[in-house]
Amino acid sequence: MVDKKKNTWYAKMKRTLCSVLPIAKNRKGKCINCGECCRLPIQCPFLKFKSDGKSYCSIYLIRPLNCRKYPRTKSECITNDKCGFRFD
Ligand code: SF4
Repeated sequence: MVDKKKNTWYAKMKRTLCSVLPIAKNRKGKCINCGECCRLPIQCPFLKFKSDGKSYCSIYLIRPLNCRKYPRTKSECITNDKCGFRFD
């Protein structure tokens, strides 16, 4: 479940601005295509679903930096219980 208190447009704007910065070195794991980060703070129009229910990005090759790098840091990660990434 997404941390609702942190799921704000302000947080989205901050993640977008900070997405030019590098990904934290202590990030481990991989994306499992849960699609949770594509709903922050509202569902992205480019989020699509396969017949098996897995999500995918319909503009994957040209997706913006904040999507490419989510979750960039532990503090920016608000999808902890579903996301395949974690931080040591
Ligand atoms: S929340 Fe994590 S696992 Fe889910 S789609 Fe985003 S990066 Fe991938």
